[in-house]
Amino acid sequence: MVENQDLIAAENLKVRNLLKNHCLAKSISDAGWRTLLSLLQQKADMYGKTVILVSPQYTTQTCSHCGHVLKDKYMLPLSAREWTCPVCGTHHMRDQNAAQNILAKALIVTAKTALT
Ligand SMILES: [Zn+2]
Repeated sequence: MVENQDLIAAENLKVRNLLKNHCLAKSISDAGWRTLLSLLQQKADMYGKTVILVSPQYTTQTCSHCGHVLKDKYMLPLSAREWTCPVCGTHHMRDQNAAQNILAKALIVTAKTALT
């Protein structure tokens, strides 16, 4: 995967906070998110690729089409795997939408880095 991509974007998840959610705790612990990111960074370094970790804030709750952010009582519960943006009407698959937002955040970081 690393060889075929120039840029890899991932959420810089606060695993300690996620472990407080008992529904997620076991799967997050098992996944070893920090270990995965560390190995990913090592492989990226080997192949001269870039890994950018972005804030996970609102990646799920933001419409990747119009930028509307779901808040308060409109926030998606963990069980909601699909949703429709109340502003632009775009229908989203939860994880795909979040991935697009993560990539957008990473591209902003690369653009800012290029300007400095
Ligand atoms: Zn929208």
